Amino acid sequence: MNCAYPFARPLYVMAKPAGPLCNLRCQYCYYLEKRTLSNSPLKGEDSLPLREGLGGSFGMNSLLLEQYIRDYIQVQQMPDVLFTWHGGEPMLKPLSFYQRVVRLQQYYGRGKRISNSIQTNGIYLTPEWCQFLHDEGWLVGISIDGTQEQHDAYRRDAQGNGTWERVMNGIKLLNEYGVEWNAMATANHYNAQDPLAFYRFFRDELHCKYLQISPVVERIKEHSDGRHLAQLFDEDCPIAPFSIRPEEWGHFMCAIFDEWVRKDVGEVFVQLFDATLAGWMGVEPGVCVYAEECGHAAVMEHNGDVYSCDHFVFPEYKLGNIRTHGLPQMLYGTKQNRFSRMKKEALPRQCRQCLWLKACHGECPRLRFLKTADGEPGLNYLCAGYQIFFHHVAPYMDYMQRELLAGRPASGVMKLF
Ligand code: SF4
Ligand code: SF4
Repeated sequence: MNCAYPFARPLYVMAKPAGPLCNLRCQYCYYLEKRTLSNSPLKGEDSLPLREGLGGSFGMNSLLLEQYIRDYIQVQQMPDVLFTWHGGEPMLKPLSFYQRVVRLQQYYGRGKRISNSIQTNGIYLTPEWCQFLHDEGWLVGISIDGTQEQHDAYRRDAQGNGTWERVMNGIKLLNEYGVEWNAMATANHYNAQDPLAFYRFFRDELHCKYLQISPVVERIKEHSDGRHLAQLFDEDCPIAPFSIRPEEWGHFMCAIFDEWVRKDVGEVFVQLFDATLAGWMGVEPGVCVYAEECGHAAVMEHNGDVYSCDHFVFPEYKLGNIRTHGLPQMLYGTKQNRFSRMKKEALPRQCRQCLWLKACHGECPRLRFLKTADGEPGLNYLCAGYQIFFHHVAPYMDYMQRELLAGRPASGVMKLF
């Protein structure tokens, strides 16, 4: 098949081979309850969390996998193709599933440079898995929320037990086998109380170079189908207790920034700090949340359903199914383009006139459920936190911007202290 979109931007899909299934029951998880949205039964779910014996009988089947890999490679216009395996917990699919992934990528690759990343809670990592991840050069994203106390506050298994020790064992194995990995952490109501313990754990104990911190914000709304979380247009829904509050988010990131800007610039890369500096420099940040428009990263569920974004896996945002719709048709079509532009077009006046718009862009639309002071809808729940943060970091960002424009490294900012 020839692609009819020769000048299009890179096409990117995050695949969920085990759908929303997970071996854990993290209290703040927004994805577990997506099980109710799926038309296709997730066989084997009753056996969870015992993975042994599940085999590959649930989630994405081999026919769909082959179609996805073939189509995804075929429609790419660039020589580099990135596959991302996400969840739920993608390692609920056995290693043999991913060994087949590699064989199919080799078969359909036709000279493309293919890379893979997998986002996991790390519990199922074994020497065999790590050998595979190392040999195939996969990048692993590990979900961990800080020190044992911080992590175990919400990241628990189905029996209510903390999972930190098991995650740390997985990280130890990754290190032993030389697997490349990054940390993905949430900032929530619990770990927000001790930002320095949080940051120093990643820097000094895990020796993390790249740290992505995502604020947890959910609202409660009971649905007749058993779901508990609200979606964007639900009104008057209470904030879930595990959510980080706006001011907490602002002070949390300021405290981490103060430590980073004195000691770690150029050594540790914190996604929000990089994105803020990108905003100061007028270049595209590496993350959709702080970009002018939404990203073009769609999500494909285990049954082939494709949605606009991981945070908008709702029926209204379904773009089609890979069995019946082409990927370019879904990802470059009117519906997805409208979704992407909505981020900028729906900004309230307060954001459009904001001093920090260049770095914030109203953050993620999923959190725009507040009204502005003059009653206009669409203000981000975390706005007050971002105001605190941007105001605090502005002098340092100005300095780093000047250093970069003069051809010097941003790490020169550390000389100020
Ligand atoms: S809705 Fe949020 S997470 Fe999704 S693409 Fe837009 S900014 Fe990114
Ligand atoms: S800081 Fe607040 S007002 Fe400014 S762009 Fe961000 S969300 Fe909008």
